[in-house]
Amino acid sequence: MLPSDPSHAGDDQDPLQPFDRLVKTLVEEPDQWALFLDIDGTLIDLAPSPDEIVVPQDLPGHLSSVSQYLGGALALVTGRALPYADELFQPHQFPIAGLHGSERRLADGTLDCVTATEALEEVKNALCVAAGRWPGILIEDKGAAVAAHYRQAPERRAELEEVMQYYLLQAGNDFTLQRGKMVFEIRPARADKGGALEAYLTEPPFKGRRPIAIGDDVTDEAMFKVVNGMNGRSIRVAKNSDGTEARSVIASAALVRDALAGIAEQIAQNDLSQKGRRT
Ligand SMILES: [Mg+2]
Repeated sequence: MLPSDPSHAGDDQDPLQPFDRLVKTLVEEPDQWALFLDIDGTLIDLAPSPDEIVVPQDLPGHLSSVSQYLGGALALVTGRALPYADELFQPHQFPIAGLHGSERRLADGTLDCVTATEALEEVKNALCVAAGRWPGILIEDKGAAVAAHYRQAPERRAELEEVMQYYLLQAGNDFTLQRGKMVFEIRPARADKGGALEAYLTEPPFKGRRPIAIGDDVTDEAMFKVVNGMNGRSIRVAKNSDGTEARSVIASAALVRDALAGIAEQIAQNDLSQKGRRT
């Protein structure tokens, strides 16, 4: 790695791998950092359809203990709509930016949501009818957005993109076409994940902290750009650093979960030893 490579500036001095570095940083400096996590493909393994994902049993509890340790400065930043994201982590609730940052729940519980327009409802209906003719294309109604998944019919990618471009025009100027892993989505254009992250950082308990963002998809690149500009840490879940602004990579969602589990374990151990010292 060349020292002049700005995309990796600062990494040369740190011999720790992203995994160890993440655990060490958050355990040792919990009041300095805010953690922003994508969900699908980052915390949870991808599945053939969004309904088929499996939430590992320990994950909600680990997220909760890391969140508490960071003074609540942990937010989920996802393409899912808020209710579907919340469902995954019951009984815990975290600040969440949904629909790629178009809607947010703040740390104090305040909601900033968008509702579907009439034009989008018509687009959803038309897409559902059209998808009946395309085996393997799954239409997901996300409230104020609509996604077309082609994981089970990758050969239809080009055709589907053309169709979604057409329906984007029908939805109107307030929408944009989001490309993701095996999915095209018509979503509100008013924000992206980077904007959501910036908004959180103006509010307590995130304000004044340096951001760490972890994500696995093209939509997470907007977070990485913001984080890189704020002297934060950007981590992409990927096998290598091709095509990403992220300054480090972690190979799998399982490793992200392991890191969270490791942090939760160290927090619990520290608690125990502090209690031990007091008694
Ligand atoms: Mg993802």
